[in-house]
Amino acid sequence: LVMPLGQAISAWTQLQTGLGALARIQEVLVLDPEHDDVAEVGGATTAPRRPAAGVPLLELDDVSFAYPDGTQVLRGVSLSVSAGSRVALVGPSGAGKSTVLALVEGFYPLTGGTIRWAGTDVRELPRAALRAQLGYVEQEAPVLAGTVRENLLLAAPDAGDDELWAVLADVGLTGVVQRSARGLDVPVGDEGVLLSGGERQRLAIARSLLSHPALLLLDEPTASLDACNENLLRETLAAAAADRALLVVAHRLSTVLDSDQIVVLDGGRVVARGTHAELVETSPLYRELAAAQLLV
Ligand code: ADP
Ligand code: MG
Repeated sequence: LVMPLGQAISAWTQLQTGLGALARIQEVLVLDPEHDDVAEVGGATTAPRRPAAGVPLLELDDVSFAYPDGTQVLRGVSLSVSAGSRVALVGPSGAGKSTVLALVEGFYPLTGGTIRWAGTDVRELPRAALRAQLGYVEQEAPVLAGTVRENLLLAAPDAGDDELWAVLADVGLTGVVQRSARGLDVPVGDEGVLLSGGERQRLAIARSLLSHPALLLLDEPTASLDACNENLLRETLAAAAADRALLVVAHRLSTVLDSDQIVVLDGGRVVARGTHAELVETSPLYRELAAAQLLV
């Protein structure tokens, strides 16, 4: 009796994990009825505009935030992501990086300051319409049970096989899927492929890219990847950046060396910003982070 029970518990745990992930994905994808009433004004949709390259797409202006339990996390954070640009958020663990992404996604109300999308206070935009412009890949990227195809179609139910293979190529997963005789119908997880954290993250990025977000928010996984995976992630980001803006929380500075701007967060405050070369000169904290990763 022991074995079957163990298996049953394992299966149940997996199901729970899958359902939890699904709930989180749906939280991002599903329309928010609260804000639907402002989706149409005078017959014209108020879906947020995509400004031309170089124009601020996302702006955080003096943003402060405390979690509902009172933990003050962000203090006067300002940053701007232009259309087509790559911005990285770096800093020690607990600095508030993931919280910044959560606030952009609208998971919590700000306690101070403003977030603007293409110049409009996001509080004036239908949340669903805003989220449709955002791709959000969280640190613990959820991969559902089911097949590679099912995981991808969640974001783009009408996508054809060509599109799925193209996006898998963008994130460097073609090989691992092709090695299976079942191709796109290979199951994910224990029974199939894509087990490593890096692969899960890249599948989640692929899912996100299929919905063609104007801005990809990516929380890089902390689990250490090998050099090969790290290069894949860099290539993935380069592909993702081809026609969209990126705001990337980076634990490995090597992934963001070529960002247009790197914002250094410490204790909920922006303590420095600039390119890698500039920060190595101007920011002791950045230099410390870079030195610890053998980059200077
Ligand atoms: P980082 O991503 O830079 O490591 P986070 O944004 O995850 O930092 O967390 C910043 C701070 O906010 C930490 O002190 C963390 O403990 C706290 N925090 C994160 N999530 C929550 C939450 N849901 N409720 C309360 N405090 C939180
Ligand atoms: Mg984090």
